[in-house]
Amino acid sequence: MKRLLRRFDFLVWVATTALAVAEPSSSVSTNAAQPSPAVSGPQVQTQAQTAPASSSIFRVQRLSDRVLLLTEKSPMENIMVALQSREGLAVVDTFGSPVTAVAARKIIEETFGRRDFIYVVNTHPHWDHAWGNQAFPEATIVGFQGPRPDLDRIASGAANMAARYRRELPDLERCLSAAPDAERPALAGRIAWMHRTAGGLEKGFRPVPPGVTFTDRKRVDLGDLTLDLVFFGRAHSGEDIFIHVPEEGLLITGDVFLDRGWMPLFAAQRELDIPRWIEVLDGLLAQDLKTIVPGHREPWTKPRLTLWRDYIANTLEGVKTAKQTGLDLEDVQKELPLPSSILYLKDLGHSEADIHAFHERNVQAFWRQLGAQR
Ligand SMILES: [Zn+2]
Repeated sequence: MKRLLRRFDFLVWVATTALAVAEPSSSVSTNAAQPSPAVSGPQVQTQAQTAPASSSIFRVQRLSDRVLLLTEKSPMENIMVALQSREGLAVVDTFGSPVTAVAARKIIEETFGRRDFIYVVNTHPHWDHAWGNQAFPEATIVGFQGPRPDLDRIASGAANMAARYRRELPDLERCLSAAPDAERPALAGRIAWMHRTAGGLEKGFRPVPPGVTFTDRKRVDLGDLTLDLVFFGRAHSGEDIFIHVPEEGLLITGDVFLDRGWMPLFAAQRELDIPRWIEVLDGLLAQDLKTIVPGHREPWTKPRLTLWRDYIANTLEGVKTAKQTGLDLEDVQKELPLPSSILYLKDLGHSEADIHAFHERNVQAFWRQLGAQR
């Protein structure tokens, strides 16, 4: 069963990357579907909590009167952020299936007691963030202005994914009946997630790309809330945007910065906009940020994002200096040892070998990028 599950994790990853990313990232960790271990890192500061609605599909967290997080109980634990404002409701990211998005929509409507969805923002166009867009037909969808999406290709990719899940399900269901008690809830959750996802992608699925796009920055005024959207630069996808909501001290970062199950995915593209990343991060870190919400699993804190900003800036400087002194890549990888600050990843279940390999890949990617600029 373990082997089947590992293969399945790989398929999830391939599906995540193949549809929108030129080359699969090697940053995938084989424990993507493991439950997150307890963490000794900084705790998330949130505002006063209101009793969250309960759901079999989502973990629901009320961060404030105006902010709701829905985290899908699935191997990938995708997060949707819902905001209520004077002007209407807005959501950021829509999961990987319209069925899931419709279920999320219902919880948002119940929680806020209203249904006036006016905006959907996609942090990037990957399937698990944008394939539920059609559940909000009345809303304006906002995202980065990337290359024109091939909707037929996306639709056939969705149909193939649904067919693959349907093929995998009988084996997993057999595994479930033989699984030890301790493994049953996670496996049952995975099976339910696959049924739900396949169900949404089989009939009536329609990819809905953003109708309003931008390339640098865009401000969406919601009356008492502001969505400040900024293109992060080419990183995890070619179209990663961050969403800052200053009135709530909230920053939504998509899949660029993950650390549970994955390591940060900023170096996944062949071309990387590293100086822009630093500029964007410096601008955001100068703000009062209470909660940082990535695309999967658990909220981050400001010190954690600062740590990664410093890691990126130091690595860039190190590689630059090494290039100027005529070192070759192998020397640089020796000269730029793994900074101890990022060893906190071990507390999240990553092996030290994987963290070293991750750092070496980053050095190599930054090296390649600097070469390309010469
Ligand atoms: Zn992604």
